[in-house]
Amino acid sequence: MDKREQLYEGKAKKVFKTSEPGLFWLEYKDDATAFNGAKRAQITGKGVLNNEISSIFLSLLKEKGIDNHFVKRISDREQVVREVQIIPLEVVTRNIAAGSLAKRLGWEEGTRLSRPVVEWYYKDDELGDPMINDDHIAALELATVKELAQIKETSLKVNDILKEYLAARNLILVDFKLEFGKTAEGHLLLADEISPDTCRFWDATTMEKLDKDRFRRDLGNVEDAYQEILRRLGGEAHV
Ligand code: UDP
Repeated sequence: MDKREQLYEGKAKKVFKTSEPGLFWLEYKDDATAFNGAKRAQITGKGVLNNEISSIFLSLLKEKGIDNHFVKRISDREQVVREVQIIPLEVVTRNIAAGSLAKRLGWEEGTRLSRPVVEWYYKDDELGDPMINDDHIAALELATVKELAQIKETSLKVNDILKEYLAARNLILVDFKLEFGKTAEGHLLLADEISPDTCRFWDATTMEKLDKDRFRRDLGNVEDAYQEILRRLGGEAHV
């Protein structure tokens, strides 16, 4: 299979066509952005780490029966995935209050939620990804009621699987963002990446942040934190 023309360049990845219909080629970049692109930097090695971390999580989910776009990791920065059309929704699932939820509800960061919370954000850079509800999603025709129910059910299943897997590695899954897409046949599929860029991971003993908050909040050692996540997942070391 060959890499063909570039279709899209996002903040953290590039998407290419391939010589095989139905398959895309992803390239993970070192670019980091936060606050809707207002803060930008290059984090050396981030693309390599996220490619490997995301491959581990998506393979695990596949093994556990959560079908997703991941096909295989083909190099340190590249993955082959199934072609989907991304639904412009950021699906955030939370176990512990942090970030925008802590701010919105005035809760102290670290407050445990009595049950997981799923939130929808409309993926639109110009609007700054506003939070929306089920009715907005239906009115915008982003997904049907049935599809949305399926997305929520899958997100909660992913939460259960990842929470347990990470707990065994002394990590707390605070919250995470998923994206879904549709295949040419109209089949709903989990897509995008699952990495320290898109999740909050805290060390269960020290509560140290091992995710993109180190970049957002200028806490330093961003690459070390991503490396530590990969180490705990049993991935290959990168220096
Ligand atoms: N998140 C993401 N992309 C975004 C916004 C959020 O991957 O554009 C992830 C973020 O890493 C965190 C979760 O979604 O794991 C919840 O983020 P939150 O709403 O607290 O927003 P933030 O604090 O990042 O502004």
